[in-house]
Amino acid sequence: GESAGQTLWRLFVIAFWATLAGLSQLRFLLRLTEQATRDGLTNLLVRGTGEEILENQFAYALRQDLPFAVLFIDIDRFKSVNDDFGHDAGDAALRGVATQIARAFRHQDVMIRWGGEEFVVGLPGANLVNAEIAVLRLAKLGLGLRPDYQPITASIGIAVYPRDGDSLETLSMSADSAMYRAKKAGKNAYCFF
Ligand code: GH3
Ligand code: MG
Ligand code: MG
Repeated sequence: GESAGQTLWRLFVIAFWATLAGLSQLRFLLRLTEQATRDGLTNLLVRGTGEEILENQFAYALRQDLPFAVLFIDIDRFKSVNDDFGHDAGDAALRGVATQIARAFRHQDVMIRWGGEEFVVGLPGANLVNAEIAVLRLAKLGLGLRPDYQPITASIGIAVYPRDGDSLETLSMSADSAMYRAKKAGKNAYCFF
């Protein structure tokens, strides 16, 4: 038969491998969650998760009677980066833009890759003045350089609760149309709704 020591050893080996398998399973699950939450290229929130977090933060602001700003950011003439320097250069430029966005805003701000070269940022507790300060901070940091060393610029629309809408849907539509006005005004600009 097996001695007590041998049995104990056998149990130890089994427990060790079970734990290891469990941990790698957990790591795998965490990675899947991370992939579903964050955009692989920019590491900003993907739209679905971003919208959920926006809704949460917005509901909190409503309850606390706080303002809430929504920014719509669209990179200017981005297609020409791809056309002139290739898709990989475009990807690198987008990654750089996202890094600058992450540096310019606060950790609590909700930074979302809305689509291609469009970003939405929710600023819980921010009024018009606070939103403008944040946009100016981003402008000062810059969005990085194109491969030809020209600065990357963006057109930005700003909408603020309660002035410009009382739901996230109206706010993001307002921010989008303000962004469009910034484009029409000649780009590299920001507009309030
Ligand atoms: P505008 O100044 O009017 O905003 O012009 P634009 O060129 O930025 O706008 P448009 O919407 O015409 O082009 C957006 C481009 O962004 C088209 C698409 O090829 C590019 N793009 C979107 N997503 C990605 C991406 O993940 N990687 C790369 N490299 N390019 C992307
Ligand atoms: Mg666009
Ligand atoms: Mg664009």
